[in-house]
Formats: sequence, structure tokens, C-alpha cells
Amino acid sequence: MAMDDTNGTAIMTANDNQTGGPAAPTDETSEDRRFAVLAAHPGPEAGMVTVIDALDDPCILIDTSGIVVHVNGEARARYPGVRPGDPLVFRLRFTVLHDAFARVVAEAKPETVEWQEKVPTDRWLEAHLAPILPAGAEGAARRPRWVLLRIEDLTETRRVERMRADFVANASHELRTPLTAVIGFLETLQGPARDDPTVRDRFLAVMAEQAGRMKRLIDDLLSLSRLEMRAHLRPEATVDLCDILRHVVDLVTPAATAAGVDLRLSGCNGPRRARGDREELAQVFTNLVENAVKYGGSGGRVEISVAADPGDRRHVVVAVRDFGEGIDPVHLPRLTERFYRAHTEKAGATRGTGLGLAIVKHIVSRHGGRLIIESVPGAGSTFSVRLDRPPVPAGKSVDEQ
Ligand code: ADP
Repeated sequence: MAMDDTNGTAIMTANDNQTGGPAAPTDETSEDRRFAVLAAHPGPEAGMVTVIDALDDPCILIDTSGIVVHVNGEARARYPGVRPGDPLVFRLRFTVLHDAFARVVAEAKPETVEWQEKVPTDRWLEAHLAPILPAGAEGAARRPRWVLLRIEDLTETRRVERMRADFVANASHELRTPLTAVIGFLETLQGPARDDPTVRDRFLAVMAEQAGRMKRLIDDLLSLSRLEMRAHLRPEATVDLCDILRHVVDLVTPAATAAGVDLRLSGCNGPRRARGDREELAQVFTNLVENAVKYGGSGGRVEISVAADPGDRRHVVVAVRDFGEGIDPVHLPRLTERFYRAHTEKAGATRGTGLGLAIVKHIVSRHGGRLIIESVPGAGSTFSVRLDRPPVPAGKSVDEQ
């Protein structure tokens, strides 16, 4: 990561400065020394300690010589190596932090600095350093007695910011490809192909296809954003999964027949109830069955089954299984990411938006359910959705629903 020194915020990577500074103490003599140091560095009053302990960010109180004098519970949990009596530099060895500390001591003004830790995982952190002055200190007496270091974890915020930026870049790219094609064909129709009816018809057909692609993409993006807005609202209605699945089979049968794929539905001798939203679940299963036909159709059949979860009969599982070429295991963890495609070379992939499984995952998690993807390369894939069955009425067993 780059250095950035705007607005008093400096950014550096941990690797810039993990060296230098004294080594951390490890043996018993250093432990004795730590207690001796602590005795010579008076700590804060009980009131201040109570306040620092009540803060839910990691907080470390340091005296002006850089010795840690108090560590709150959050800081102890996050940085077990930072202990009262040790110099702060033993454990938090970031130049940016220590330079800011020196300025806070010298100028008695608060500072905020940012840095990135690489080990054990990438983390973005922000430190707020506040000088603590003696009560009523004026003029030359305005020298801090301590500096309160409060550390805020910005990792999640940074991750969301990056996801949003990636998402906008991907969505723009996906829309620009068909748009560029449409503009290109329009220009040709306005110019060289103006009076050629055969070329015109062919180009108009391609433009219609590209416009359809843009429409599908925008519909999927809107679907995702609507789902995000309702992510925390769990559907409470009771639906019959068999009813939904029959409807899905009717919907996908023309495409399946055209691809030479036989769709089979099993487990629907009676109703199979689940808690959910009919429209959204229809969207989930349509997507899974369409994908099974599109990407796993070479197996000639797709089996859709619905059954109570054998491991926990309070749940019901719908499985969509194909017998196609399967998915390389490297792709499995990323399949539900927006715009992720495992088969870019397949004809069907150009029709897909890469958003289908992201929508499926959103809907399933809004239902409090689970999406399980299993695949054996060369043998096919199974996409299973586990949902809650409706609550059991008093006096009935879970199997009587
Ligand atoms: P798309 O709109 O591209 O179909 P999806 O999000 O629905 O996007 O699927 C993501 C990717 O997962 C697909 O591009 C495809 O590579 C892979 N995939 C989905 N279902 C299957 C399946 N049944 N068999 C093999 N690959 C699949």
C-alpha cells in the first residue's frame, strides 16, 4: 500500500517497518525489569482507568516516555503482547505510530494515523492518539502526562469499500460490452449497410440480442439491490415447494427440450411445505434448473428432488442434480460471487449475467437457509437448497405437515 500523508493521516504498510526498535522481552529478567519500570511510572487514577476500561475499542494508555501504563480488556484481547511496564514499541512497531506519538507529546494535539497489518491476515487499522493533560494546565504547563491510544479496526469498512468499487467496475464493464456492439452495428447501418436489407436484418437481430443482454443484466442488478434492501426481513409465509417446482419445470422445459435434456421431478407425491416467499423461491429454482440445463446439459438429464432433510427433519432440501461435466473444485468457493463465471468459453455463458448464483445465495440466506454446491468433475453437479419447514402446530409431529 502507498504512503499517503493528507489531512494528518499517514498510511503505511506493516512490512515497511517491522524491523528496528528493541526486541520484545521474553525471559524472566525482563519480567522483573517490567515491574521495576512500572513502579517508576505512576499510572492513572482509578476514575480514568474505569473510563478506559468501559471503551469498546482497544485502548492503551502510554506515558510520555513511551511506557505502557494501562491496557483495557479489548486491547489485551487483540494485542496480548502489549503489557503495562513495557515500551509500546516492543509490540506495535510502526514508525507512523511512533512518529505521531512523539508529535502528540511535543505539541499536545490529538492525531490520527492509519496503517496496515499483513500478519496473520490483512488488516487496516486506525489509531487515535489523544494527549491527556493535567487539569487546568495553561501555557508551558500544557504538556501531556499521558497519551491515550485508541485503535479502530477499519478492515470491514475497507473490504466493503473495495467490494463496492469492484462491483461498479464489473457492472459497467458488463454493460459496456453489449452497448459497444449495439453502437458499432448502428453506425454500420447508418453508413455502409444503409441500403442492404439482408445485412440490415442480420444486424438488427444481433442488436436485439445485445439489448436483451443489457436488459437481463439490469433486471438482475435491480433484483440484487431489492434483495439487499430486504436482506434482514425473513419471509414468514408457508409455500408448497412442489407447486413452485412444477411451475419451474414448465418454464424451463422448452429450453431443456431444445438442448436435448430430460427434466425429472421427484418427491412430489404430496405437498412439501417450507417457510418462504413464492416468487423468490421460484427465482432460485428457475436459476438452478436453467444452469443445470445450460452448463450440465451434456449429461442428457436433470433431476430435481425434494425431501425432508434426513439429518434434521425440521428442514426440507431441494436438490438440482445434473450429469454434465461438473465444475473444477478451484471454482466452487467463488461461484456465488457477483460476475464470477467458471465457463467463459461456453455458448450459454454469453447469455448469462454471472449474477444468477449471487441472487440465489442472497435469497437463500434471507430465508435463513443454506446453499450447498457439490460437484465431481466429469460426473456432474448438485446444487441443494435447505430451507426451514413451517413451525409444527401443537399436537402434530414434524412429519405430519
Ligand atoms: P450465469 O449467469 O453466468 O449463468 P451464475 O451466477 O448463474 O451465472 O453461475 C455462475 C457460474 O457457475 C456459471 O457461469 C457457470 O460457469 C457455473 N455453473 C453454474 N451452475 C453450473 C452447473 N450446473 N454446472 C456447471 N457449472 C455451473
